[in-house]
Amino acid sequence: MKNLILFILSFVTFTTFASARTFKAIVRTESNAAKEAMVELEDLISETSFDGKHFKIVKGKSDEAIAFDASEELVFKAATTYYHLTIARNYFINKVKSDFVSKTEKMVIRIEHTNQFSELGHHANDNLDPQFNNALTVPAGVGLASRGVVPWGSEIWFRPQKKINIKDLNTNNLGSQQFKVLMRDFRNQIHMQSLQKFMLGVATVLVSGSSRSNPFSLDSLMRTAGSSLVMEFGYQFIDPITKATSRKWYWLDTAMIPEIIYHEYSHAALSDHLVLSHSTAIIEGMADFFAGQISGSPQLAKHIKKYNTFNGKNAKKKQDYAIQFEMSDYANTDFVFGMLWEIKNILGEEKGEAFMFDLRKRLTTNSTIRGELIDGLLQTCDSVCDQPFIDKIRILKALNLRGI
Ligand SMILES: [Zn+2]
Repeated sequence: MKNLILFILSFVTFTTFASARTFKAIVRTESNAAKEAMVELEDLISETSFDGKHFKIVKGKSDEAIAFDASEELVFKAATTYYHLTIARNYFINKVKSDFVSKTEKMVIRIEHTNQFSELGHHANDNLDPQFNNALTVPAGVGLASRGVVPWGSEIWFRPQKKINIKDLNTNNLGSQQFKVLMRDFRNQIHMQSLQKFMLGVATVLVSGSSRSNPFSLDSLMRTAGSSLVMEFGYQFIDPITKATSRKWYWLDTAMIPEIIYHEYSHAALSDHLVLSHSTAIIEGMADFFAGQISGSPQLAKHIKKYNTFNGKNAKKKQDYAIQFEMSDYANTDFVFGMLWEIKNILGEEKGEAFMFDLRKRLTTNSTIRGELIDGLLQTCDSVCDQPFIDKIRILKALNLRGI
């Protein structure tokens, strides 16, 4: 009898562990609004924390996985991040058959992490410009034994949100001149760190200037600066709980926005060829493209069509494409994203998707739009397209119509 009870107990324990655990997470509705739902998390290897076969979700600099009995808010965030990372990983393995991703080591995912990234020290000093409202994928590092910094693998960092009310911002005479400086800062910054500063700048301009007569609406500013369409899309669905999304506030809870999670994971998944040394229009445009594919949202596709800066002869418009931004930053990100999206549509959904995944082999982080990207598109067509001669003509025609 005792043995039977032990047997049943071990069976119960085993089945509890083997069955997927359900958690509350943010998901998208058909119309792409954000909502709370109960989701199953796959491949957890811990019974008490967000430690899985492929992802370990930690808070800040900690190396311990977040416990299931942590605060409700933290668990909600960890579950949402884990859930969407799993979707992104499954996409790369099952849909585009990435050998690299299937062999990728387990990743540490940091949420609520404010430290800057340091190539030598992993986490920069706590006092050095803490980060909010953005996300970042960091490359692996060898560590610094003399300082006790152990080696680390590629990681994704999600910053905590920080609500910035336009009214609370310091408006010290920041006018159009300062705005130019802010725009330059935006372009010089890497990745989404820049979005926060940029948005701060926008908010400041809106306060200091006449917001109504200001020709730069929040939307048009985001567009002109070439920030990602996917980001902007995510920004429109920020707060599913209070639905308090307001143009008077700015914040981005990046660990809760599926498209941003997909974008960051795409950086890691494409890093077999697009190394994570710095941000360029190519690397951001490619990550956005795959974020769009993973989300598979018809609403997002509509949004891309509506706002696509690649519509029209855009390479001739400085605000959409500028050659001097080719290498140094991602001001042309939307241009690249729009171009890739349009070529996918020319080739057809399935073919186009496989094409873009193959394209990464012919690109590097330092590729230029007019140089290696165009060459890469044509070379990829030679190896992937069904009718390379005809399809290359179609691609060239589309590029030519757009001024490239
Ligand atoms: Zn990015």
